Amino acid sequence: MTTTESKPRPRLPEWLRITLPKSDSFARTRGLLDELKLHTVCESAQCPNHWECWEKGTATFMIAGDRCTRACGFCAVSTSKPLPLEADEPLRVAEATRRMKLKHVVITAVARDDLKDGGADHFRQTVEQVRALNPGIAIEVLVPDFNESDASIDSVLEANPHIFNHNLETVRRLTPSVRHRATYDRSLSVLAKVKAKRGNTIYTKSGVMLGLGETEEELLQALRDLRTAGCDILTLGQYLQPSLKHLPVIEFVTPAKFAEYKVRAEEMGFIHVSSGPMVRSSYHADEFTLPALR
Ligand code: SF4
Repeated sequence: MTTTESKPRPRLPEWLRITLPKSDSFARTRGLLDELKLHTVCESAQCPNHWECWEKGTATFMIAGDRCTRACGFCAVSTSKPLPLEADEPLRVAEATRRMKLKHVVITAVARDDLKDGGADHFRQTVEQVRALNPGIAIEVLVPDFNESDASIDSVLEANPHIFNHNLETVRRLTPSVRHRATYDRSLSVLAKVKAKRGNTIYTKSGVMLGLGETEEELLQALRDLRTAGCDILTLGQYLQPSLKHLPVIEFVTPAKFAEYKVRAEEMGFIHVSSGPMVRSSYHADEFTLPALR
C-alpha cells in the first residue's frame, strides 16, 4: 500500500450496492475451502463479488500463499515475508476444483519475488494437477509479471493453460502510483511474449480498473496498447478502495460508460469483453466458453 490518503471513503452509488444471498451455498464453499486449506483472491483481495460467486459455488484460487512480496496501492492482499511453498497445494486445488464441479477454473497467485522463478513452476504443477483430476476443464491462469522472465513464462506455458491472464491494472501515467513495483511496459511485454511464443493456440487476457483518475483517452490508449500486444480478452471494472490506507476512488464510472467502453473495445478487436462496475478479472470467467482454439 502506498498512499497516505485518509479522507473517509465516499458512499457507494446504487449500482455498486450488493444484496447478500440467503442460501447456505456460501457456507458450503467456505467449508470446502477451509477443509482443503486453500486461499482465494475472492477473500484476500476483498472482492465485492465474494458473496455472489461463493453462493454460486465458484471461487478463484490463490496459490503460493497469502503473503505478497509487492505492495500495490490498490490491492488488499497482505504484504509480508512469504512462507515456503506447500508441495501438496497443487493437488488440493485440483481436489477443490473437482468437488466444486468447476467447468472453468481460474488460478492466480501472490507475487513471489523471493523465488527465483517467481512461483512459475508452482503454477505449472497446479495446472497439471487440475487437468489430471478434471479432464476437459477450461483452465485460466492469472499470473504476476514474473519480472518478464522468459523461463518463468515458459514454465507456465508448459502446462498448456487455455487462457493466460495478466492484468495491466491501469493506464501508463498512473502505473507508478498504482503498482510501484511493476511497469506498464513490462506487463504489455509479458502478454506480447505469450502471443509470440504460442500464437493463436492460447488466449491472452488482461484487465484494467477504472476510477483511479485515468482519462478516457488514456484508457483507450491502454486498450490499443493491449491489442498491439495481441491481447484477446478484456475485463474492465470499477476500482474500489479496500481501506483508507489504499488509493482513493477518484470517480465512480457509470454502467452506461462501461457499456460504451465495451463497444469501443470490441471495435478494437478484442474477441470477448466484460465491462461493468462489478467486473473483476475472474468475474463470470466461465461466460467465455472456449471456442476451438484458433
Ligand atoms: S469475481 Fe473472481 S475474485 Fe471476485 S469473488 Fe468472484 S471468483 Fe472471486
